[in-house]
Amino acid sequence: MFIDDTIAAIATATGEGGIGIIRISGMHSLEIAKKVFRSISNKQPEEYPRTLCYGHIVKDNTVLDEVLTVYMPAPHTYTKEDIVEIQCHGGMIATKMILEWVLENGARMAEHGEFTKRAFLNGRIDLSQAEAIKDIISAQTAKSFLVAQNQLQGSISNKIKSIRNKVTEDVAKITVAVDFPEEDTPEVTYEELKESMLLCQTEMKQLLETFETGRLLKEGLKTAIIGKPNVGKSSLLNEILQEQRAIVTDIEGTTRDVIEEMITIDGVPLRIIDTAGIRDTEDIVEQIGVSRSKEIMQQADLVLVLLDLSRPLTEEDHIILEQSKEKKRILLLNKTDLPSVWNPNEEPSIAGEMVIQTSMSQKIGIETLKEQIKELVFQGQVIISNDGMLNNVRHKNSLIHAIKSSEDALDSIEQALPLDILETDFKNCWTYLGEITGETVSEELLDTIFKNFCIGK
Ligand code: GDP
Repeated sequence: MFIDDTIAAIATATGEGGIGIIRISGMHSLEIAKKVFRSISNKQPEEYPRTLCYGHIVKDNTVLDEVLTVYMPAPHTYTKEDIVEIQCHGGMIATKMILEWVLENGARMAEHGEFTKRAFLNGRIDLSQAEAIKDIISAQTAKSFLVAQNQLQGSISNKIKSIRNKVTEDVAKITVAVDFPEEDTPEVTYEELKESMLLCQTEMKQLLETFETGRLLKEGLKTAIIGKPNVGKSSLLNEILQEQRAIVTDIEGTTRDVIEEMITIDGVPLRIIDTAGIRDTEDIVEQIGVSRSKEIMQQADLVLVLLDLSRPLTEEDHIILEQSKEKKRILLLNKTDLPSVWNPNEEPSIAGEMVIQTSMSQKIGIETLKEQIKELVFQGQVIISNDGMLNNVRHKNSLIHAIKSSEDALDSIEQALPLDILETDFKNCWTYLGEITGETVSEELLDTIFKNFCIGK
């Protein structure tokens, strides 16, 4: 694909910072850079590729900023195009002024993710690697970063490509047999096609199994803290958050009355949905609280149910226990420092369930809770496989379609249907696998994917 325009954007995050970088990519990068940059050493960027050149960005004889400029000729660059990067002072003004001046000199403002899109279109990375770059930038924990890093190094691409290559060979054999039945070509047997497709199917299914953990590492385990007013929900949240204040982040898209906070337990991200904000002492509002809790519980991967040992169980406790009983849940019996008024061993609504006795005021039970969460969700420890873990819903959906096509293919073989029917099933499988790496993907889908990137990436 020939791309003749040159794009530019601020590649660093907005806000105050030591330096800011303006990135220019395309066949006119150097020409544009030479119009805006004046070297004050005896080096010119084009004479010293990949070397920093010290100088000024000058506009109408006025120095806009003191900068370092580097010219990286194609094809060994991020986009496989000529790239110039200008390192200027950080902050809102220098970067913006220089970008505008670069645009006035012939570059076009880059769209979201356009540098990465060019890296993909120019064949430097495939689509799953391009998506990994977005995950690397937005990773919230070291573990999800590692999964994305493996994906960028080709863990998913290599696996998919190796499966797809096998399917390609089979498609080729079938096509030859369909198109040239009379020719003296080696015959393809149903038996060998079956064996080959079964192997591919097993590998696809193994990859699909990694999705649940991959997704949790990327998005975080949605955890809801549920309990009637005053049972200790906010205290629990504070205890969990206390050690981690520094990494608490706001998560976009949350509603006004439900707060989400991100914490990690041994590298496992938890998105804690705090329902503290929905409680009120007014009866009617409490009722709304209960129905909201229900809604929140339904969305959660894990529910922490708090009960108060120092007060009798109420109707509200029973409703909460009933509503959460189908969910993955941990029961916390709080306020063990106060005299207990009910006996958990004699309470039928929690009979046989694992409970953790806690006292938020005495800081008892938090460590046990963390261990229990890991045990329940990840069977004790989270293993990051270097073989690639699926963590992208788009990849997962394409893989499910590919597996479905492989089932169709095996059915067709079982029924000894004509080869041209088999050809369609095998080709479908091949197409769906190609969606993951971007070999068979529409322009529209590409736009959707890259729209979610930031500008400058
Ligand atoms: P929430 O309404 O469920 O969020 O409950 P809070 O966390 O706001 O706690 C309600 C009250 O119970 C506060 O005064 C807390 O200090 C107190 N509290 C919470 N946990 C404990 C506990 O384990 N023991 C005792 N004695 N008091 C607690």
